[in-house]
Amino acid sequence: MKYSLVAEYFDKLEGTRGRLQMTEILSSLFKETPRSDLPVLAYLMQGKLRPDYEGVELGIAEKLALRALSMASGRTAEEVKDAYVKSGDIGTAAQILLKGSGGRGRQGSLTSEPLTLRRVYDSLLTIAKTSGGGSIDSKLKELVSLLNDATPLEAKYILRTAMGVLRLGVADYTMLDAAAVALLGDKAKRKVLESAYNVTSDLGFVIGVAAEHGLAGVEKIRLQVGKPIRPMLAERLESAQAIRDKIGKPVAAEYKLDGERLQMHKDGEKVELFSRRLERITLHYPDAVKFVKEHVKSRKAVLEGEVVAINADTGEYLPFQELMHRRRKHGIEETMKQYPVAVNFFDALFVDGKDITGQPYVRRRAELERVVEVTEFTRPIPAKMVETVEEMEKFMELAITEGCEGIVAKKPDGVYRAGAREFTWIKLKREYSSELTDTIDLVIIGAFHGRGRRTGVYGAYLLAAYDAERKMFPSVTKIGTGFSDANLERFPKMLKPCESMVKPPNVESKLVPDIWYRPKVVIETIASELTLSPTYPAAMDAIRKGSGLALRFPKFTGRIRDEKGPGDATTVKELVEMYGLQKRSQSVQR
Ligand code: ATP
Repeated sequence: MKYSLVAEYFDKLEGTRGRLQMTEILSSLFKETPRSDLPVLAYLMQGKLRPDYEGVELGIAEKLALRALSMASGRTAEEVKDAYVKSGDIGTAAQILLKGSGGRGRQGSLTSEPLTLRRVYDSLLTIAKTSGGGSIDSKLKELVSLLNDATPLEAKYILRTAMGVLRLGVADYTMLDAAAVALLGDKAKRKVLESAYNVTSDLGFVIGVAAEHGLAGVEKIRLQVGKPIRPMLAERLESAQAIRDKIGKPVAAEYKLDGERLQMHKDGEKVELFSRRLERITLHYPDAVKFVKEHVKSRKAVLEGEVVAINADTGEYLPFQELMHRRRKHGIEETMKQYPVAVNFFDALFVDGKDITGQPYVRRRAELERVVEVTEFTRPIPAKMVETVEEMEKFMELAITEGCEGIVAKKPDGVYRAGAREFTWIKLKREYSSELTDTIDLVIIGAFHGRGRRTGVYGAYLLAAYDAERKMFPSVTKIGTGFSDANLERFPKMLKPCESMVKPPNVESKLVPDIWYRPKVVIETIASELTLSPTYPAAMDAIRKGSGLALRFPKFTGRIRDEKGPGDATTVKELVEMYGLQKRSQSVQR
């Protein structure tokens, strides 16, 4: 398939807002795409090259993109930078600069062929996989060669994709809608595609199966040991009473430990571990791998649990921060001894070769208790069936005394719904000193120069929530409190690769920081409350016309959420819900 056709469709999509219209455009793109190219197209549209769990990272540095553009257009570095800063977008800059330079086959390569989707994809994959000495030069060469053969419109999308700032505004479910229409001939079949996507976490794969084998093929897609399933998530409520009212009785209350979520896949002697954002993290926890091998009494199983740092002498849980010492690639053996961990299992999705996600909680819990051996380092997470609000509160107190964050209340007859955040699981956290009980995970999108003691380092950061509907990052707060000196030193270095001379195209903010960052790093914050604000665009018009939501007295908790990607940050929808909960608990207190 010619890449020019893809670029034309991308251009059309960019100018479209309504979901229905988008679905129409997309489904005609899917119909025009040869079957074998569909998986690749789907990844590119997600702004990816492979499913997340394979860890192939797109997103070349800004500098490299500018150098490539300068070489391909024959313009000076200054001219390129000017065009970039003026237009605020690498794609637009490319389009403008290349227009004057003769289009395809510039640089004298008269024989150049039109670009195909495959060639663009393969080159981007080569770039993403190149690392080590001399890698900058090889990446540059590959990118320039693509740009030399590209029309200005093609170059626009190639560069945006390469930098990881392609912004088509197409949500995953819109793509599933379009695939249902184009490949299965019925929009209602989107549900089947969606559940296949949720159990495989691989949109390209699902769309490929739909194209090659139709509905029957997609219906056969099941949870596979070795491929991570999108995790089920918890809603939040403000009190045990509210939870009882929502779930009824009894409620299955479980400890909520503050560690890292692990999805553990066991196939005989082979064990793989996946994180909350579905990255393969097997190598981080050789001890957890050993525990699963030795203490899970099922040959083929997928279990979920929380891995927590423990005090080796007493077995007590340690705070989450201790676990972060384990997030490293080297010297694992040594750190493993220094920071031992325990695994607390909380769900069984696949046992003895059988997918049990469709079974109710009580059955899955029974299976979990059957297969997980209780040892010093492994056990099913403490759980209790509670009938009354008082019982639930007692259990919560017990959990907190034992070092937990709170409890997760689960509906006894609830099935495991991959990728869903519903009231089947509800988290109830310990009251913090501030009024908002839950923390909010936000993405860093900018920084402001510091004054006084903070001269020379950044004094405050601009943070955004995630608008999942539009795949945008609207700002919600400026934050300067809660940073240790060590963090103030560390942050600029950590954020360096995300620096951007212009406001990234997927960011929305009226406030203009001294430096912009491409949305990548997620940090945990706590605030006294959520307030309406005309300054911040998150949830604009959702509660009141002309106002968005902002954090009041925000504070960084000290926790960088490595296990979350920008798309896992607190969403605008969640903020609106939290605002509603806060109103409710305020009126109860009055
Ligand atoms: P998200 O809800 O998006 O996962 P989060 O990590 O901020 O975001 P938390 O408030 O930490 O959400 O609550 C959900 C997380 O709690 C789970 O992802 C899991 O890591 C952890 N957890 C701890 N104990 C349990 C339990 N018993 N059942 C389910 N999850 C648990």
